[in-house]
Amino acid sequence: MNRIYLDHAATTPMAEQVVHTLVEEMNNVYGNASSIHQTGRIARKKLDDARRILAQSIGAQEIEITITSGGTEADNYALFGTAYARKALGKHIITTQIEHHAILHACQQLEKEGFEITYLPVDQTGLISIDDLKKALRQDTILVSIMFANNEVGTIQPIKEIGNLLKDHQAYFHTDAVQAYGSVSIDVKETYIDLLSVSSHKINGPKGIGFLYQNKDIYLKPLLYGGQQERKKRAGTENVPAIVAFAKAVEIKQQNIKKSNEHYRTLRDTFVEQLQTNGVEFKINGSLENLLPHVVNVSIPKTDVETFLVQLDLAGIDASSGSACTAGSIDPSHVLVAMYGEKTPELRNSVRFSFGLNNTKEEAIEAANKISKIILG
Ligand code: PLP
Repeated sequence: MNRIYLDHAATTPMAEQVVHTLVEEMNNVYGNASSIHQTGRIARKKLDDARRILAQSIGAQEIEITITSGGTEADNYALFGTAYARKALGKHIITTQIEHHAILHACQQLEKEGFEITYLPVDQTGLISIDDLKKALRQDTILVSIMFANNEVGTIQPIKEIGNLLKDHQAYFHTDAVQAYGSVSIDVKETYIDLLSVSSHKINGPKGIGFLYQNKDIYLKPLLYGGQQERKKRAGTENVPAIVAFAKAVEIKQQNIKKSNEHYRTLRDTFVEQLQTNGVEFKINGSLENLLPHVVNVSIPKTDVETFLVQLDLAGIDASSGSACTAGSIDPSHVLVAMYGEKTPELRNSVRFSFGLNNTKEEAIEAANKISKIILG
């Protein structure tokens, strides 16, 4: 049985050209980018070229890109780096109730260390309100961290409006763009973003690599100390092959962003229409007007997410609840709790399907048919 992988929001397979680049660089570029001999200089050049591609992809300068081990580290660096560097200016941070745990758990740790965090609510579509943000902003707010798009339901936040609101406030504006990057065009200068997190494995690049964009005028306290790499912002020998392969994934994404978004929309529409044609009762969680093209989170009455995911797995479909799975049992999604409240059926009957480059229309139809069979019998 050929499996149908519909969990690209969790991670994506590497693009063929990316694998090729990675292998080639691993074979050929083994120097330490900090070494001054020729082998080191070759690695340095590769690193500089890759950084240029990463920077250009969001309208930033090369010096504003710090390579990290992925989205989690970029998020942690943005939060702890800001908190520790700016605590003399205030100890108030604003975020949302629907952030990834890389943000939420970092915020919980900061609370233990004496910082005060405001968690903005969202409406039933997963959107924050600019008015709520205005009300929450204080003179001692040092950071606002609001994700670009949500990883569970795909809702895209009004990032430009948030940037405009914050541009004259002392608070830095951080956005976790791990899910949005590659599907949404991003210009950090136009949108007044100070800090932005990206992860390679969500865009068909290698795992364990990502970056934090940091406006060149701001200072973050580093998380790692050691060598002078990354302009002393993040010590440790750079993984040049992975960074070059990440840049290759970025280039491919940029060349195809319009085409791949159209492809995702076709897959998603086909999938949803087929479910409708088959008579499956369902509702889409999230904002239909502001939705990432590759994600659809559906609530299917009378199903139980745990049983349903096992049934999908047995039917050869990889999907996910989008929420944490602890020792075989799925905790209710904090994102759906924020959208609907504590005791609504959506918490127990919602599943996320997320499409990727290798999916075909035939797969979308087949998946919808298999799902319909599971539900309707
Ligand atoms: N932020 C969001 C919105 C994500 O979806 C993820 C990954 O699922 C992360 C952060 C963490 O990124 P990484 O897996 O690269 O650490």
